[in-house]
Amino acid sequence: MPLTTEGTGKPVTVTYWLSHAWLGTHVEPGVLLEVSSGGRIAGVRTGVDAPPPGATVLRGLTLPGLANTHSHAFHRALRSTVQVGSGTFWTWRETMYQVASRLTPDTYHALARAVYAEMALAGITAVGEFHYLHHGPGGTPYDNPNAMGEALIAAAREAGIRITLLDTAYLSAGFGPAPALYRKPDRHQLRFSDTTAEAWAERASLLKGDDHTLIGAAVHSVRAVPAGELATVAQWAEERQAPLHVHLSEQTAENDACLATHGRTPTRLLADHGVLGPRTTGVHNTHLTDEDIALLGSTATGTCMCPTTERDLADGIGPAAALQRAGSPLSLGSDSHAVIDLFEEARAMELNERLRTRRRGHWTAAALLRAASADGHAALGRPDAGVLEPGAPADLVTVALDSVRTAGPVPRLGAETAVFAASAADVRHTVVAGRHLVRDGRHTLIDDVPEALARAVAALHH
Ligand SMILES: [Zn+2]
Repeated sequence: MPLTTEGTGKPVTVTYWLSHAWLGTHVEPGVLLEVSSGGRIAGVRTGVDAPPPGATVLRGLTLPGLANTHSHAFHRALRSTVQVGSGTFWTWRETMYQVASRLTPDTYHALARAVYAEMALAGITAVGEFHYLHHGPGGTPYDNPNAMGEALIAAAREAGIRITLLDTAYLSAGFGPAPALYRKPDRHQLRFSDTTAEAWAERASLLKGDDHTLIGAAVHSVRAVPAGELATVAQWAEERQAPLHVHLSEQTAENDACLATHGRTPTRLLADHGVLGPRTTGVHNTHLTDEDIALLGSTATGTCMCPTTERDLADGIGPAAALQRAGSPLSLGSDSHAVIDLFEEARAMELNERLRTRRRGHWTAAALLRAASADGHAALGRPDAGVLEPGAPADLVTVALDSVRTAGPVPRLGAETAVFAASAADVRHTVVAGRHLVRDGRHTLIDDVPEALARAVAALHH
């Protein structure tokens, strides 16, 4: 029986038969999903026991495609090298700067293409790339001032996933003594800086979106954008109704320096300069006061948690549950790509809260899945994505139910199997805009993703 007959008006071009589908509240067996020529879901029919002729079979648990809301593609080159030895966020950052200093538009493109292909294999259909590596060595702009950003857009297109390029303003090296208040970018940071927010806005305005690409803005942090420049970035995003992201209170040192310079917390500083609001997402939101939490909640500013990075960098555990209760929608990102696995990010958010409170069950698996999908897509400027409903983008991920990790729960199958049992390695199919991008665990556009990753990473460690 048809669950709904309302469609998008466009002719159906592809039909997928899902052995099991997550429909937002429960798992439904035998679902036929029709895709229109525009790459959107045209119809969702339940009670279809067997695949009709011509339908592509997706065997497993099919969910809406996952949103990786916070990414720095080039950090993938640090995986399993930066975990050697000891240190803090700040010593890690030195190593990260070394890799950044070696990137060119070509090597960045090759690396990002492979990283986005790894994301596709992990069921991620959209990435929010927090992009601040804008210029050539010494800060000299490339002939095309957006050569680096366009390399990322091309990489996502070739890997078959959607991208929201969050072009990031990064202008200063941090707080300093009065009267200047902010220090000039250091040797490495020169490549990140447009000098002023106005120059940043001028360059960012040249970027163009398309079917798979949205252009958004980011404030790197209150360290990297002087208070007097914040409103220019906020205004740019406001004019375009574009997403605006910002690293917020990841480190206590940032809070201390901000309080010493401005007499207020980073959250309060952002609020006072018009940065907070429902199109804005604070990334990490780790070390907050009660007033910060209330401010983020009352302005409906989103929170993007990156638990696998936060634990790798010894950041601390952010107050995700309190933020959500206050009114801040939650999303998830793999950030530094210590791992690329949104199921792990989702369960880590819950498990961190358990460790902190010594209580279980802060979120349902359905709520965690919403953070990994619908609310993440919304934070990236696609509020209609992340559901299996007519009119939504036909972006899907199918998790195997016959792996050693996931075998067992049928017929009592729920979102728990995806969130608490599966890993990225269990992703069998990924569909983006109706196109079968990952088929039976193989990327259909890039033949050998591990080899592409190995080559791109090796080129930066010569
Ligand atoms: Zn980040």
